[in-house]
Amino acid sequence: MSDVICMSGSEDGRERRGNSGVGDAVANAAANEAVDKAAQEDIRRIARKLLSDGAVDVFIGYGQGTLPSRVTPVFVTRPEDADALIWDARCENDLAVYLPGIEGRAGVVVKGCDGRALARLLAEKQVERDRVKIVAVACTGVIDRRRAGRGEGDGAELLHPSCQVCEERTAPVYDFLAGEAKSAGAEAMGAGGACDKDDKSEESRDPFGEIREFEARSSEERWNYFSQEFDRCILCYACRQACPLCYCPECFADRATPKWMGKDRALSDKMVFHLGRAIHLAGRCIDCGACVRACPMGIDLRKLTRKMEKDARVLFDYEAGKAAAAGAPAVFAAFSKEDPDDFVL
Ligand code: SF4
Ligand code: SF4
Ligand code: SF4
Repeated sequence: MSDVICMSGSEDGRERRGNSGVGDAVANAAANEAVDKAAQEDIRRIARKLLSDGAVDVFIGYGQGTLPSRVTPVFVTRPEDADALIWDARCENDLAVYLPGIEGRAGVVVKGCDGRALARLLAEKQVERDRVKIVAVACTGVIDRRRAGRGEGDGAELLHPSCQVCEERTAPVYDFLAGEAKSAGAEAMGAGGACDKDDKSEESRDPFGEIREFEARSSEERWNYFSQEFDRCILCYACRQACPLCYCPECFADRATPKWMGKDRALSDKMVFHLGRAIHLAGRCIDCGACVRACPMGIDLRKLTRKMEKDARVLFDYEAGKAAAAGAPAVFAAFSKEDPDDFVL
């Protein structure tokens, strides 16, 4: 009997109705094209060794989900079950989210973005470095299964928006590397296109172009956009639960005293939740896209998180992943006597 424990389908535990049939076929075809057999074999071999040596109590990776198009997080505890681990372009979950709650020693597979999240968790002392074995996997991007479900595009066009602008595809900190390291410009999903390393236009592409375009709109247009987006929010908090960096034992949104937001689902309450969360993630969000994928309403959460990411980079020369790898505190947790604003002192 297998001891592999699977999570229910995905990080959000839901399958959208539109993501079936033709969409499944498109997603599966893209995933099959993007299977990195060498990396998958490396992951299995490393997990088997770590478990048989007793170096870890559990190995967290990806396994086949109950639906053909879906991959699910799996928790492997016996070396003979390591072959349940898979790696392809459907492996979208950010597995770093499970680490703060794991007791004992764990091995974990991380893509570049998950590795940046884990680096933040280490810097924020939510995970002890000597209790985790990090297996970095060379990432070529994951499929945006909603777009695949709608049959929109193919090859590199099917990459999740976070993957289309991803600059670091291999974790900044790791113990083992599965496959070959990938960085910005690495070939995406074997399809060339948006992430082809020889594509000069890619080098000059502004990763925050979409945000700058949005900033250029009038304040009324921006307000209307966010009002319409957030009015569809059902305050299910799936985005928060999927986020590896939303780990507070008690979220401000759940507090009764002081009460930050009401429970009647007014637009103002939804705004408070989203603006509060964005501020808490400023200089910490590593653009893994887990919140976006988890949202059952398809809300454009990245407009806010990418804006915060851009401002941290432009105003403070601060990149969440790189700073975390160096053990630096989050940008708003840092203090300098040289700060020109006297309100600081
Ligand atoms: S954001 Fe980067 S590291 Fe993360 S899945 Fe996409 S391409 Fe891979
Ligand atoms: S806010 Fe979203 S994109 Fe940013 S770290 Fe959390 S889940 Fe990832
Ligand atoms: S944004 Fe989406 S996932 Fe987050 S609370 Fe609202 S409906 Fe739920």
